[in-house]
Amino acid sequence: MSSIVLFGPPGAGKGTQAERIMTSTGLPQVSTGDMLRAAVKDQTPTGIEAKEYMEAGKLVPDSIIIELIKQRIKLPDAVNGVMFDGFPRTVPQAEALSEITDVSHVIAIEVPDERIVDRICGRYSCASCGLVFHETFNPVPKSGCSCGNFVEKRRADDNKDTVLSRLSAYHEQTSPLAEWYENLGIFHRINGDREIDLISHDILLALEN
Ligand SMILES: [Zn+2]
Repeated sequence: MSSIVLFGPPGAGKGTQAERIMTSTGLPQVSTGDMLRAAVKDQTPTGIEAKEYMEAGKLVPDSIIIELIKQRIKLPDAVNGVMFDGFPRTVPQAEALSEITDVSHVIAIEVPDERIVDRICGRYSCASCGLVFHETFNPVPKSGCSCGNFVEKRRADDNKDTVLSRLSAYHEQTSPLAEWYENLGIFHRINGDREIDLISHDILLALEN
């Protein structure tokens, strides 16, 4: 069994590519955030332990997350590996992960910050049905919104500074991790500033090697 780690800043189109990787490889997606929420809700022993940290306003320790992953990768659908999304975020987490599962490929979808700002900041939604449009990439048709109601352009909340600071936090956090995986020779940078199909094509090609 060997697993994949998927990296990508917010707004890089990671969700779409994750779907495609799952379809092509058959590997299930493992989101540690979702697993943590589920464990807390189901009141599993690990969930109960995690909840104590959360209620105290503390970060859930890596050991708990690793324990959740250990349990997850024992399930039958993970027999050929899984696709990690949103984990690891730090080098110690990557080291701990390497002790419980074999990671064969790390895929990083890269998009220049200013392009992400364009993508996110041009968004607005229909005030009536909530459908999302984009000033440049997906403008409202002349005939109006498909809900049939008049579209009162409502800006998405994200402003440029918020997006930029989120991206700078992302880079600060992931660059040591990228270097760590690069040293293992399993890190693949994918240019995410292109057509969706081209991105998927390059990702699948990287996974084949
Ligand atoms: Zn509408």
